[in-house]
Amino acid sequence: MNSSIEIHVLKFGGTSMNDHQTWKKVLEIISEYEYPIVVVSATARTTRQLVQAGKLASSGDLEDALKISNEISVRHKAIVHSFLEENPSDRKDLIWESCIKKVDEKVHKLNKLLSYAAKEGALSPQMNDAIMSIGEQISSYLLAQCGLAAGLLTQHVDARKLIMTDNRYGNANPNLMLINQKCGSLETMMEDGFTPVIGGFYGESAEGNISTLGFEGSDYTASLIGAAVHAKTIEIWTDVSGVYTSDPRYIPDARPLEELSYFDATEMAYFGAKVLHPSTLKPAQERNIPVSVKNMFKPEEPGTRIIRDSKGDPEVLAMAFKPGITILTISAYETLMGYDFLTRVFEVLKKYRLPVDAVNTTEASVTIALSNSEILDRISNDFIEIGTVQIISDKGLISLIGCRISEAAEISKKVLNSLNGQSIDLISFSKEKRILNLVLDEDKLVESAQKIHEKIFNT
Ligand code: ADP
Ligand code: ASP
Ligand code: MG
Repeated sequence: MNSSIEIHVLKFGGTSMNDHQTWKKVLEIISEYEYPIVVVSATARTTRQLVQAGKLASSGDLEDALKISNEISVRHKAIVHSFLEENPSDRKDLIWESCIKKVDEKVHKLNKLLSYAAKEGALSPQMNDAIMSIGEQISSYLLAQCGLAAGLLTQHVDARKLIMTDNRYGNANPNLMLINQKCGSLETMMEDGFTPVIGGFYGESAEGNISTLGFEGSDYTASLIGAAVHAKTIEIWTDVSGVYTSDPRYIPDARPLEELSYFDATEMAYFGAKVLHPSTLKPAQERNIPVSVKNMFKPEEPGTRIIRDSKGDPEVLAMAFKPGITILTISAYETLMGYDFLTRVFEVLKKYRLPVDAVNTTEASVTIALSNSEILDRISNDFIEIGTVQIISDKGLISLIGCRISEAAEISKKVLNSLNGQSIDLISFSKEKRILNLVLDEDKLVESAQKIHEKIFNT
């Protein structure tokens, strides 16, 4: 699209979509822009509740699943009700009616899906996506309606008309060519004075069903749309003032970073910084569109700008951490050593398309850290053909990102000193990626992360 207008894609997450007061703030922010495209998550807690409802229904507890669905319905209606009470509009009755109709329609659909899952005693990935996306389907429509009540020309656009994907339900891959084509309609809408409001996280599969882009996928939607319309910026509005040196929820002295490269931000997301979905930066990077992360409760704060080449070269840029890591050690049978052994280990990883978080090798053994423990049984069966397999779970991974290569030894020393003798299962340094990874006990994860952060970033 060759747009003559300067488009800003604004994404608001679950915490920003929490209640009628935060909706008001969201709409105030939107009103500051001339040509915004708005992407929203489900309201806080909704996606988690939908996941739970699906699980309950498929395990036979339809009653509790329907209770959740009712709670979702009541909560959304209450948000709209309070919003319309506090923001009087001539069109109040009309807006209320259309919101109630939409919530009822979506909840009816949800209940049908839940009943079907209960009857079948199972939940296909396809049905799971249809269920999980209900939150965004509802929130985006209602926010667009509340925008009208607040005097904006907001218009809901169903993400199924824009975000075309493959059939990999639960973690679908976008079809960029189709998305680029479909997003052309947004520019026309904006030239006519309307502000599109789109639900993040979901789209339509090649088979014509609802698909989702993986947890936290609304960030990805924003970036896909931003790239398609050649936006001037993509802004991720959330509950913290940017990307921090580490998760501020657990590391109280973490501080926001002014700038970050696409590469480092992607590594942070991949290694567990929840503030961004790991694929978010790719579409933006391909079109060199800056991505900002801003605090919706403190819009005056600068936040973080993610661009191609960031300035500055600190000893370590940031630290991410995540629980739920399993370590596998495969030790070669005597008949299979050296090169052959390593090749076969990596062939298994390739077969399952398994991203490995950290790895250590010797000629006769390989230790790998994985976050995906669901297919552990299957891969260990394959590994048993090559060697003996030892599995240790309940581990956590700490990743130091953007390490200055020349300081690698000094950084490792600081890390080990700060942990003061605590046992570490695996430590690896990637020169190419400038990342130091260490795996340790999950129950010591946060405490260890705090100590390392203190040592590296505060001294
Ligand atoms: P949203 O609902 O807006 O998508 P998320 O909860 O997905 O918000 O992401 C924001 C949260 O990400 C923050 O509240 C923070 O706890 C967490 N987070 C993890 N790592 C970082 C980091 N390095 N910088 C900022 N926030 C982080
Ligand atoms: N609501 C979805 C989730 O919680 C997508 C998102 O918020 O980005 O994962
Ligand atoms: Mg998020």
